[in-house]
This record gives sequence, C-alpha cells and structure tokens, in this order.
Amino acid sequence: MRLRNKPWAEGYIKENSAIVEQTPYERKGSWNSIFDKEQPIALEIGTGKGRFIEGMAMKNPDFNFIGIERDKNVIVSAIDKIKEQEIINAKLMHENAQDLRDMFAENEVDRIYLNFSDPWPKSRHEKRRLTYHTFLEQYKSVLHDEGQIIMKTDNRKLFEYSLVSFSQFGMKLEDVTLDLHALEDETNVMTEYEEKFSNKGQPIYRCIASFK
Ligand code: SAM
Repeated sequence: MRLRNKPWAEGYIKENSAIVEQTPYERKGSWNSIFDKEQPIALEIGTGKGRFIEGMAMKNPDFNFIGIERDKNVIVSAIDKIKEQEIINAKLMHENAQDLRDMFAENEVDRIYLNFSDPWPKSRHEKRRLTYHTFLEQYKSVLHDEGQIIMKTDNRKLFEYSLVSFSQFGMKLEDVTLDLHALEDETNVMTEYEEKFSNKGQPIYRCIASFK
C-alpha cells in the first residue's frame, strides 16, 4: 500500500485519543476497561484503512475489537470510519505489532484476525511473516485457550506457508477454504484488499486455526 505522506496524521492520531489508545503498553491486562462493556476481545493485526474492523464491530456488538496498524497514513482512514459510524466497540492502536506479549496479558484475547498480511516472499524475510513460529508463540500466549486465529489472504504462497507453520506448531486447522467467496458466507466482512483482489478474479483463501 503506497500512500502519500500525510504530515498531519500524527496530530490527528493524538487528537482522536477516544479511538486510538495512546499508551497501549500500559493497557496490558486491562483492555476491556477502555470499552463500554466487558466482553471478548478480537484483535486485528494490520488494520489498514479499517473497513474490516468497522464492519465486524457493527455486526458483532458482543465483541470488543482492537486494530493494530503501524502506518500513520492509513490508520487515519480507520479512525474516520469508527468516528463516522459512532462505533463504541472498536479501538485502534498506532503500533508495530512486534511482541503482543508486551501489550496483552495471557489469555486476554479471544480471536486474532490476520487479513491480507504482507507476504514477505523472500526467504531471508521469513521471520517477518505474521505466521512465522515466533509470532505463533506470542499468539498462543495472549490467546484464550479456546481462542482462534482467522487468516484471509489472496496470496497462495503465504497461505500454504501459514498452513504448514500452523501445523508444525501443533495447531489444529479448524477450517480451510480455497475460495471463501464461493461459500457466500454472510458473516464475512470484506477488507479493502479483499475487495480489490476479488474484483480482479482472484480467489480468497481463509484458514481458522486454534491451539487446542
Ligand atoms: N488488512 C488490510 C486489508 O486487508 O485491506 C490491509 C492489508 S495491507 C497488505 C497490510 C497492512 O498491515 C498494512 O497497512 C501494514 O502497514 C500493516 N502491518 C504490517 N505489519 C504490521 C505490524 N507488524 N504491525 C502493525 N501493522 C502492520
């Protein structure tokens, strides 16, 4: 995603502290306290422009959603969506998700969404893929025992890599589909990338995995 630099973005993120948690590391163990209701937490890593978190929060009022996005130029669009829809069960953080264990206590999260994560195709960049085993260790720690990782991508190689990585880690693959849109699943909320790739005729892959 190449976007024009928005020099005003840092200020905008600070101004919107009701939506963007400004001190996420201090929230470890008490994320539910920033929401109106105490309820299960769903985390999206790499929220982008926020279409998914907006749609999911509106469709699932019984979950609290947290979106992590490191790029200031895209998170501002996610802020606007949450603000315009007056969504109370979605918050954001402007952070690089390097180690979730610094931000979340053990078992604090109920679901992790990985949507169209950067594929990092070169093998020397394998460690950066969000399904590399060091990330899975973090997810295992912060996820509740019954928690799930739900991954969607258009990238066949990243998908295959991730299925192997989940399996080698001893995870259970609860559902694997090679053409999500063929299922006509009304609960699916499309992301910006999902719409773009799907419009080009590319299939969307989805895997639901757990550590059970
Ligand atoms: N999920 C969105 C979608 O499907 O439309 C955006 C997909 S885009 C390919 C990947 C996004 O993840 C980018 O906005 C990037 O800045 C963000 N990202 C990648 N690695 C990240 C990390 N470690 N922490 C936070 N954001 C990350």
